[in-house]
Amino acid sequence: MLRLDQSLMSQFANDQRIRMIILHYTAVSFTETINIFRQGQVSAHYLIPDPDASDYLECCAVNHSDSSENNKILQLVADDGRAWHAGESFWRGRTHLNDCSIGIEIVYIPGTAIKNDPPYTETQIQEVEALCRHLLQKYPIAPHNIVGHSDVSYDRKSDPGPQFPWQQLHEKGIGAWPERTKVKAKTALHSSLSSEQLKHLLIQHLVAYGYRAPVTADDEARLIWAFKSHFDPASLDQPLNAQTLAIAETLCEQYLS
Ligand SMILES: [Zn+2]
Repeated sequence: MLRLDQSLMSQFANDQRIRMIILHYTAVSFTETINIFRQGQVSAHYLIPDPDASDYLECCAVNHSDSSENNKILQLVADDGRAWHAGESFWRGRTHLNDCSIGIEIVYIPGTAIKNDPPYTETQIQEVEALCRHLLQKYPIAPHNIVGHSDVSYDRKSDPGPQFPWQQLHEKGIGAWPERTKVKAKTALHSSLSSEQLKHLLIQHLVAYGYRAPVTADDEARLIWAFKSHFDPASLDQPLNAQTLAIAETLCEQYLS
């Protein structure tokens, strides 16, 4: 039998389950994460430990494995199985995103306030890159379908947080990112808009891009926070500005056409 290669096969109609990658942080240690997963209420396909954390190193020592080898990524659920990581969620018209996604949990503990969030370790980000690259070779996942938990459940989640290096991943061919020159040009065009106009247009574009339409004012604020956390973290604690709208417009232009 003649088999086409993966990229060619993905062009034909199929019911491949996996369409998205959703990235998370655990907010607790490796040991606590494993304990939570053992209780059976939540799970993820992959877990990326902090390779320098003492509890992880102790676990490796007990199991006689070498933490410096290729065992930094743990697969807990097979790709074709359904892990329970997204909960109530929405992206581009779909709900129940556990059905169509791979969940990756990164062991990372945020600070007590956003400004105290530590950076992710370089080793963990390299592991995320390697894992995503592997998944992208196997499954037809569009760049704008690689998202954070906060993108798909913005009303209740803030992971993987503003320290997650989305731009760095995009530069390695993973996920969406707006082109800088387009953002600059569009920002200049919007400099005279009022903050109400900015907010109205921004939300319109975010809903077009894939976010769930907000219902309340609180919802709107959380949606804007989630978007900034992913694509414009430098402006997280600032009032809404023209650049954030320009980023949303550029993403729609680049990925929805
Ligand atoms: Zn999460």
